[in-house]
Amino acid sequence: MDKISTKPIIKIQNLSKSFGKHQVFKNINLTVNNGQVVCLLGPSGVGKSTLIRCINMLGKPTSGSIYFDGEDLTKCDAHQLTKLRSKIGMTFQNFNLFKNKTILQNIILAPIKVNHVDKDKAIQQAHKLLKMVNLDQKANVYPDSLSGGQAQRVAIVRSLAMHPKVMLFDEPTSALDPEMVGEVLDVMKMLAKKGMTMIVVTHEMGFAKNVADEIWFMDKGGIKEQGKPKDFFSHPKTPEAQKFLSKVL
Ligand code: ADP
Ligand code: MG
Repeated sequence: MDKISTKPIIKIQNLSKSFGKHQVFKNINLTVNNGQVVCLLGPSGVGKSTLIRCINMLGKPTSGSIYFDGEDLTKCDAHQLTKLRSKIGMTFQNFNLFKNKTILQNIILAPIKVNHVDKDKAIQQAHKLLKMVNLDQKANVYPDSLSGGQAQRVAIVRSLAMHPKVMLFDEPTSALDPEMVGEVLDVMKMLAKKGMTMIVVTHEMGFAKNVADEIWFMDKGGIKEQGKPKDFFSHPKTPEAQKFLSKVL
């Protein structure tokens, strides 16, 4: 059976974003189905982070709609938004762990505060998640004592502790020493295999080729190509994608 259902979990409609007079993109329309893994590729500075931040309303779109599980996030009040957002996990280039909290405390914070999970249960779940990424022995240390690869694996399981329906990744391996990239990509591959819906901004072309169900290629102004990895990588249609691939492959 195909792991991807045809039920859209995210629907982006006529989405535009400007910073002052600078229009980053205009009228973007995209859909992500349950279980789908999308890789968002493109040169630096074209708006990949801006787009992915709009998807969970970390950045406010200038116009357009973002439907998450049927609800238009751009029309939600603060209370609804907090609730829906808790189901959209996000992982950043620089991990964003709380430095003054232990790894375990980092993981249990949101489940307890936002989901009102019982503390013992949250701790139990945190250990289970840490075991999944082979880091349970680090439960009681502080983020400063972790390597970049370990910190990013913790950041990922911290998101998972909220039982997200979608995970957004913005260049999760870009800040890592090369020898640590693999261990983070392996966790992401495992999530993809388990059927997690994911949107991943990445420069890891091997991951995009092998793991993505769909590629979104972005260049100045918006999404220039969208399709299956094998089509995108072997037959890029636009001059922008051809130029991009000639540089990265
Ligand atoms: P990418 O992630 O593809 O490298 P970004 O989304 O970070 O690109 O940036 C797209 C464009 O928007 C860039 O020109 C950047 O300078 C601009 N930009 C991003 N964030 C802001 C901001 N908060 N204020 C003003 N301009 C911004
Ligand atoms: Mg970026």
